[in-house]
Amino acid sequence: MTSGVVDTTLIADATLKPDKAQSTKAFLAKYRTHLPEYALREFCAGPLGYYKWLHNKFVETRSFSRTLAALGKLARAQPNRVATSLEAVARSTSKLSKDFASLPKLDNGVSLDEFQAEYHRQAASNLVQLAWRKRRRLTDSVSHELDCFIDRGPKLERSLLTIDSRCDRKAKCAAAEQLVARRDRLEKVLAANKSITPQRPEHQRRHKALRALVRGSQWDNQLCRSLGDAVFSVLAEPATVVLTTNRRDHEPLAAALGLTVDEP
Ligand SMILES: [Zn+2]
Repeated sequence: MTSGVVDTTLIADATLKPDKAQSTKAFLAKYRTHLPEYALREFCAGPLGYYKWLHNKFVETRSFSRTLAALGKLARAQPNRVATSLEAVARSTSKLSKDFASLPKLDNGVSLDEFQAEYHRQAASNLVQLAWRKRRRLTDSVSHELDCFIDRGPKLERSLLTIDSRCDRKAKCAAAEQLVARRDRLEKVLAANKSITPQRPEHQRRHKALRALVRGSQWDNQLCRSLGDAVFSVLAEPATVVLTTNRRDHEPLAAALGLTVDEP
């Protein structure tokens, strides 16, 4: 069986998107899979964090319409957060329409706007808790563990969800050390990342982080997150396949190391 290194997007599909969970698991079953722990760091900072944020926005506003308005204001500054949140709301809305006939009548004094906010808040909360429990169990193993990784699960504090999951700024960044130990591969991925056109902000941030590692310059643990997709190719052993839902972004980096990419 071929080995596959699993990226963050598949963990998100398998845990946060009920309609994609089955097909994602079937796809993963074709490979002997391992998940670099870095993917879990990315997952918490990205999709899982966005669901948490959406949950808290519903708590704060207690209003469906005001939550959508808040998303609208972030569309330019934080497109990924907004896209993920809207996808979540779309799924939850389609579930609401299916459940609608069997729902109890609204209490007097509860507006439809409040009711929807509460419905979607609950859905987001359930998904975050479930995703947290499942995220390490979707692959045959979790690899490349990070000693610097603080990974504390979701907690409800005064109705708001918190997740403390990050690269500990006081520790040595283990992801950085893992990449520096593969210097040849790191240099190839640095060059490949630079030649991607057009260069989006994430490519530029990644360039800065990769270059700091190659040059051995001062490393700020905040740079850890900018490494992104590069981590998966650099850590993949030869003849491993990079598994993702995002072939387009991974392919140029993987190809520089002679790796192939597969997506569901
Ligand atoms: Zn780190």
